[in-house]
Amino acid sequence: MQIIKAYAAQSATSPLAPFDIERRDMRADDVVIDILYTGVCHSDLHMARNDWGFSVFPIVPGHEIVGRVRAVGDKVSKFKAGDLVGVGCMVDSCRTCKPCQKGLEQYCVEGNTMTYGSPDRHDGLMTYGGYSKSITVTEDFVVRVPENLDTKAVPPLLCAGITTWSPLRHWNVGQGSRVAVIGLGGLGHMAIKLAKALGAEVTLFSRSANKAQDAIRLGASKVIISTDPKQMQSVANAFDLIIDTVPYDHDIMPYIPTLDLDGTLVFVGLVGDLTHKINTLPMLGGRRSIATSMIGGIAETQELLDFCGEHDVVSDIEMIDMADINDAYERMLKSDVKYRFVIDIATL
Ligand code: NAP
Ligand code: ZN
Ligand code: ZN
Repeated sequence: MQIIKAYAAQSATSPLAPFDIERRDMRADDVVIDILYTGVCHSDLHMARNDWGFSVFPIVPGHEIVGRVRAVGDKVSKFKAGDLVGVGCMVDSCRTCKPCQKGLEQYCVEGNTMTYGSPDRHDGLMTYGGYSKSITVTEDFVVRVPENLDTKAVPPLLCAGITTWSPLRHWNVGQGSRVAVIGLGGLGHMAIKLAKALGAEVTLFSRSANKAQDAIRLGASKVIISTDPKQMQSVANAFDLIIDTVPYDHDIMPYIPTLDLDGTLVFVGLVGDLTHKINTLPMLGGRRSIATSMIGGIAETQELLDFCGEHDVVSDIEMIDMADINDAYERMLKSDVKYRFVIDIATL
């Protein structure tokens, strides 16, 4: 066991604070990574505060991890010391079920091993995430980070990026697709950048008029203020795909008529109950669908990183010190993030 410095929440109501964790000794297929930067996802906040009801404390959040390989086990063939690598939301899965065989480890029928808050499949120890100095992960769940990108701005690709990339790819977004994104936060800004880079025409739905200029700079051609019914009417039948990144319960019915024939609204933000009613009538009227999508597989994450390397796509970030994490959470709750916090792990 190695003792590693980290930041943890000890309960749903306690702020994050310094905490020493134990990491396993390196196994033959393990990669030991010295963490450089870790992105701050809204899921970290949900988990630290037990919003979803399945958090196990203490929790060390962080699943947008970029670092350099310090050491590799005897059986590791894909990585060597010094490589620039990333770890996202999962660190293992059963690897034999149908979804795993298809490279969709996020949908492992046994449940994937999450980067934090999951028992390890071999020794049962709880996993701890990237608000820490180093992490030890089996090589099959480590991805290569292109060296040409601005390393500090890469971590958000590992969750916000892949979570929006996966539905963009699944619904075949490309040249001429009409994509709308609901909410301009971490996921939303990556959805705009990636859809644009794939050739789509992109619209942002936001409650925040003050984000309009940023949305255009990020690649949107239009911004619709979702609380203004007139603006909403102006985009009737306008979209093939809507990516909904809103983290909390909300009414999706105002968005349904903005889908074109066979259009799909895909939830990536909300985890849990939707208390607002869904009326099928406006859906029937255009064979419209409501769908969901969860992160992305490891091969797909590598595909995304390679695509970002080629197209020079990274996140717009605000770098913070580890000690500022609790303030960052408060700002995230006020939708005051431009557009992803990244922790400089050197400050831990
Ligand atoms: P974020 O940075 O806080 O952005 C969320 C954005 O949604 C806000 O900036 C805001 O945009 C809008 N919003 C916030 N509260 C709202 C409300 N009550 N009603 C309407 N709009 C609201 O969060 P994030 O990191 O992008 O994460 C978004 C959600 O995705 C979280 O719940 C997270 O847990 C989830 N998530 C899911 C997956 C998955 O695999 N499906 C992966 C990662 C994250 P405007 O100011 O523009 O309105
Ligand atoms: Zn996340
Ligand atoms: Zn599986």
